Amino acid sequence: MSCNLAHSAPSVASATGKTVNPFSLLLPSVPVPASLSTSSTPCYRPSTLADVSGNGTAPRKTSALASRPSYSLQAPRQPSKLEAEKDGRWYDVAEAKDLDKAGWRPTAKMPRRFFVGGNWKCNGNRDSIQTLSEALNKGNSVAGTGVEVVVAPPAAYADYTRYLLRPDFEVAYQNCWTGGAGAFTGEVSADMIKDSFSESKWVILGHSERRSLPELKESDDTVAIKTAYALSKGLGVMLCIGETLKERDAGQTMAVNERQLAAVAKRITDWTNVVIAYEPVWAIGTGKVATPEQAQEVHAKIRKWLAANIGEKVAKSTRIIYGGSVNPSNCNILAKQPDVDGFLVGGASLKPDFLKIVDSWRRKLDMEV
Ligand code: PEP
Repeated sequence: MSCNLAHSAPSVASATGKTVNPFSLLLPSVPVPASLSTSSTPCYRPSTLADVSGNGTAPRKTSALASRPSYSLQAPRQPSKLEAEKDGRWYDVAEAKDLDKAGWRPTAKMPRRFFVGGNWKCNGNRDSIQTLSEALNKGNSVAGTGVEVVVAPPAAYADYTRYLLRPDFEVAYQNCWTGGAGAFTGEVSADMIKDSFSESKWVILGHSERRSLPELKESDDTVAIKTAYALSKGLGVMLCIGETLKERDAGQTMAVNERQLAAVAKRITDWTNVVIAYEPVWAIGTGKVATPEQAQEVHAKIRKWLAANIGEKVAKSTRIIYGGSVNPSNCNILAKQPDVDGFLVGGASLKPDFLKIVDSWRRKLDMEV
């Protein structure tokens, strides 16, 4: 599905009450033909001067615009509140943030805001990311609801994804360096992530692939140093921990998870911006999901460990999400577990059905999904 302005430019009410095409607001001097004024899918691709041919008064043929998103050095622009669709589904970034702050409060059934991360790993290209973003953009807004959604594309596409994706979904990075800028070829620092076009607030650290791939072999301490540095720069960290099948079979599940957590606890004191992702290695990408009982058991023990080693308050407030072959069929029963505060999703986050996993937060409140 391409992001064709002819079909995607939403008509909105202007301050004077007249219907206007928001793309006309991006280039006020450019008359927008009636053919561009109908709407179906919201699209956050900004128009740029590069989209205007000749003397700057006529839009380029829409077929040229439709083939592929053009990307300029102009800052990506989200529609303002005025420009957003009037059906209440869409908000601008600032409004999404305000609603996030004001719209959700902890309850007995849901003491922590649900968190769903999508880890796209080393997958995708501009076409597939455009298609996926357009599909994800069709879901209801999550701003101010009980769920926070963060997707992590490959670093090369973070800005591009931000550019296309709905504003109420955050864009994250999958890794960062242990410190700041310097002679570290190939690395990206937390400072850069914070400073990036995509204004990312989150990074995934300690993923089992980075801990175990022979080319990478990140140690517990490397993960801890990265975590401490990323937090010090104001990022949130999805901190992955988890045991292998061999370790589980040897009865070492909690010893491994506690060792990985203890390495981080040595280096940080403030856990506010940490989301712990319990990802049993045997469940990642295998189709073999942990049972709800297995997930709940480990999550409860992790919370107990936090209470004993960090403090009651941190134990109560820290989100512990589950990762490992989560899909639309198993997410609802997992979401019901009291200590499961969301998911980190790999394979299933690459499909439009990811929205069903996002919606599973509603099961916490016994709402229909
Ligand atoms: C992951 O890689 O973090 C993950 C949970 O993958 P999958 O959902 O594909 O098992």
